Amino acid sequence: MKCRHYLILFFPVQSHINPSLQLAKNLAGSGAKVTLVTTNRGLKQMKSLPTLKGLSYASFSNENDDDYQSSSGFSSYVASLRSIGSQKLMRLMEKFSDDGEPVTLLVYSILLPWVAAVARELQVPSAFLFIQCATAFTIYHRFFNSQDGIHGRMDPSVSIKLLQSLPLFSFSDLPSFLLPDSPLSGFMIPVLQEHIQVLEQDPRSFVLVNTFEELEQESFKDIANMNIIAVGPLIPLAFCDGSDLTDKSFGGDLFSKSEDYVQWLDTKPKCSVIYVSFGSVAVIKKEQKEEILHALVESGRPFLWVLRSSNSEEEEVHKTMKNGVKGDGIIVPWCSQVEVLSHQSIGCFVTHCGWNSTLESLVSGVPLVCCPQFSDQTTNAKMVEEVWGTGVRAKANEESIVERGEIKKCLDILTGDEDRGKRIRENAVKWRGLAIEAVKEGGSTYNNLKKILEISG
Ligand code: UDP
Repeated sequence: MKCRHYLILFFPVQSHINPSLQLAKNLAGSGAKVTLVTTNRGLKQMKSLPTLKGLSYASFSNENDDDYQSSSGFSSYVASLRSIGSQKLMRLMEKFSDDGEPVTLLVYSILLPWVAAVARELQVPSAFLFIQCATAFTIYHRFFNSQDGIHGRMDPSVSIKLLQSLPLFSFSDLPSFLLPDSPLSGFMIPVLQEHIQVLEQDPRSFVLVNTFEELEQESFKDIANMNIIAVGPLIPLAFCDGSDLTDKSFGGDLFSKSEDYVQWLDTKPKCSVIYVSFGSVAVIKKEQKEEILHALVESGRPFLWVLRSSNSEEEEVHKTMKNGVKGDGIIVPWCSQVEVLSHQSIGCFVTHCGWNSTLESLVSGVPLVCCPQFSDQTTNAKMVEEVWGTGVRAKANEESIVERGEIKKCLDILTGDEDRGKRIRENAVKWRGLAIEAVKEGGSTYNNLKKILEISG
């Protein structure tokens, strides 16, 4: 049997880095060779890199490397990655073959559909690592498949029945990029369409999804004609099934974290702290931050709030907020979120519902106040509130601001003694148990990982 060699190419943003690194660690932990590849700048920005037998890194330069953090430069950055990355990837793959370590499966994440063409040209099997939930994949497939895709034929005023077992989805519950007037939709729609098309063109290719089968059974049934495999939750093992207590972080943070918050959490009673974070990308308006701060203080509960600063002006605003905090709360620029969510003091999570954050909260059994901003976050919030029952969705006003009273109301539901709050907390515990079962020896994800190792050997 050939030595298994997985090459995983990922886009250098936090929510793509984390599941890619974890998949790499899980595969390397099973004895495979894994090479993680991204841009030079992306690799340099990652504060630390996991070291593990079988795991190595490679990178390539991209001429627009400085552009990707501005929304205007983002699409040209992605386009230049395609032209430069294709050639560099091809050369890297050839070099591995020449060195006697040919790549046996080429894995790529979202925004990089061109990788499948490189794999086809070199006759290497490929897999799309889908880092959103399987339901989001079902939606993209429903929109863009070449047989009966509904893209361009949908009436925005009509709700759709996606799957028999799911509630009706209105347009605003769908990933925002599918709405014609949403920012970036002109750029994202062709990318998503291409992802679906390249998978259709090569029926041998796989889709690896960062979820677990039990969580989204109906979505898996809906796309059962594709080679779709659940490999999640892709979360450091110490916080998941506990099978490797040394695996305590993803290991590729782009931001520097403060060091004081774990000690602070240690002093708080069980399930008392409200954790607030809106991920690594969303830009939150000053007005929204003020509403959150008021709600937190009025709740009378301790809170830990991650406020990232993307420029010096924002840094000043955050400094002022931090110094002016009344009540028992701390504001930090970044933290190890998986560590925080698994801390016994955390009682609930006010989140933007990025898929990694949503999944990490499910694994930790922490209920959610959902404040989705864009992309698949709206779909995740819908699933959390109406399907998995692990949280409540906060309603935004006409200016898209969630006001303090609304946040406070949601917090009261999650932390209070009413039936609704109790049910949500019970569901959170239930899904935590099922997520851990999936990863443990003999569980669905554990078996799927074995299957991948068998078929790509
Ligand atoms: N994260 C973290 N520390 C923070 C905030 C976020 O480690 O202070 C991690 C979080 O654990 C998750 C990722 O950053 O894995 C954010 O991904 P997500 O899909 O939730 O949101 P996005 O950043 O894409 O909006």
